Amino acid sequence: MQGKHSWSGSMRWRIVLIYFLLVFIVMVVVSVFITNSLETYQMDSLRNKLTSTVEKGSFLKTLSEYDNLLNHQEEIQDTIIDTWEFGFSEELSIVDDNFTIVASTNENLTGESASEVLNTSVLTTAIMGGKMAEADGVLSGNIPVKHLVFPFGSDGNGQSKGAVYIRADLSDIYDFSSQSKYIFIYAMVLALLITAILGVLTSKSITDPINDVTKQAERMSYGDFSQEVVVKSEDEIGRLAEMFNLLREKLDFTLSEMSNEKSKLETILKYMADGLLAVELSGRFMHINPAAMQMLDILPEDLEDHTYDQIMEKCGKHLSLEALLKGSKTGGAQDTFDFRGSVFAMRYDRFKNESGQDMGVIILIQDITERQKLENMQTDFVANVSHELKTPLTTVKSYAETLLDGAIDDRDTAISFLNIIDTEADRMNRLVKDLLQLSRIDHQRERWSMKESNITALLKSVIPKIELSARQKQQHLNVLFDEDAKILVNIDKDRIEQVILNILSNAIKYTNEGGRIDIDVLEGGGNVKIIVSDNGIGISEADIPRVFERFYRVDKARSRAMGGTGLGLSIAKQIVEEHHGTIAIESQEGKGTKVTISLPLAIRRGQRGID
Ligand code: ADP
Repeated sequence: MQGKHSWSGSMRWRIVLIYFLLVFIVMVVVSVFITNSLETYQMDSLRNKLTSTVEKGSFLKTLSEYDNLLNHQEEIQDTIIDTWEFGFSEELSIVDDNFTIVASTNENLTGESASEVLNTSVLTTAIMGGKMAEADGVLSGNIPVKHLVFPFGSDGNGQSKGAVYIRADLSDIYDFSSQSKYIFIYAMVLALLITAILGVLTSKSITDPINDVTKQAERMSYGDFSQEVVVKSEDEIGRLAEMFNLLREKLDFTLSEMSNEKSKLETILKYMADGLLAVELSGRFMHINPAAMQMLDILPEDLEDHTYDQIMEKCGKHLSLEALLKGSKTGGAQDTFDFRGSVFAMRYDRFKNESGQDMGVIILIQDITERQKLENMQTDFVANVSHELKTPLTTVKSYAETLLDGAIDDRDTAISFLNIIDTEADRMNRLVKDLLQLSRIDHQRERWSMKESNITALLKSVIPKIELSARQKQQHLNVLFDEDAKILVNIDKDRIEQVILNILSNAIKYTNEGGRIDIDVLEGGGNVKIIVSDNGIGISEADIPRVFERFYRVDKARSRAMGGTGLGLSIAKQIVEEHHGTIAIESQEGKGTKVTISLPLAIRRGQRGID
């Protein structure tokens, strides 16, 4: 992280720099102030020392009492040599009002003209003003000096008799001053060095926790919420770290809640039976669940480089994104479409973002093929029932009317008409009975009395019931199974008898005169098979799967003429399935039909209860 920032961009170095500058400025100000103060102090103390030396005692008074200083030159010289207690760095001279140096601690100056060797202006100011005067100057050899002039013997009009002229060498003071400057520079360098070290350490204590927080934030951006920032202090940074940890916890919790919700939603979408598609306005798939992919025959690789419209082209134009957006202009809409032999219902609506802008379309698809088939079957069934009932009723009504119109008087006609009415009434009766039975089975209201029974015995007892009809058509009924065999099945005898009778009577009905009908029983694999085959008219391949449908008849007129209702095989199928068995038809048009009923064998528990 830190490596990405420049030196000047790092907070740590900025803190060090600020420390450094602060200390530098303070040190400069302090050192300038102290050196100046020291210099001024030294100057003042030099001046005071010299002034008090000159002005104390009777030195000035004695001098002012001389009329002519030059006359007392030697005396004055001796006095100053005796009394002058300073070293070589100060020099004291006595100058008269003619600016002649009368005496001096520097004997070279004695007798010289002050205007040539001394500072004339300060001398003039003092002598004329009668007041002490001073000035700074530089002697040859670059020696800094202070000129102090004390006038004496003032006449009260600003004219003095002479003056005590002191020149003090300031080299020591200036040397001390410049020496102290060096000391301050050393001190400053040392202080700055210490500041830098302390700055680095202090800034580290500030920036380290911030770096910790930054590192944790970076980890969090990659989804790692496992680590906490260590809270080292209770100050502002400590509180920042504390708050950050709290934020991490809350964020972790919220994110895991969100991901739980997401995975829950994904699981729901994955396993829901309905298809769901979410498409962006650009045509890109946002989501498509496995059900939708299966329904619309979409492969995962199709999604990679195809838009919604390209993929859905096969389902029709009214499924294009444009059409869906148009359809959902005023809210959710619905539609149906056919695809590869299936019928689908779909609901769709636009989805929006937080600011209410359209983002795309969500489409929910339901396979309604079976539902529609069922609906169609129900409508067909009602139509069939009405039709089947109406036909005999019409016949009954028209014959009854003809009888009433006078045909009753012709006995033979009347008898034949009444026979027709009787037959039609029987047919209606059969139809209503069949319908009632179907309804009972459908609604599971049929009472089954399952008992272990011998199927060969049952067949043996059924055959005589249809023998007459077969004989009437000169058909040969061949019993191929061993009539004494004992094959036990757990069945409702009446119902299975009904099934066998139906199959046998169908064989007789749909086999021409002189035909052959074989009945066989085969045992094996835990099942018993009852096989009825004929060499009758047969059923075309296309019709075979439909003969178990209610009211389906290959040849309606023929079936009706034979007294069939078209419900026999569908009832048979339901009865057999209720016994956990199967019923199958194999047939060849014009050659014959083979019906196989397969029933599970009973688990034998001895001979008791078998009839
Ligand atoms: P139906 O009362 O018309 O006989 P079914 O349900 O028993 O009704 O049979 C349905 C249809 O199946 C019949 O109408 C007939 O066309 C056909 N079918 C049934 N059994 C045979 C068979 N053995 N040979 C030829 N066609 C048959």
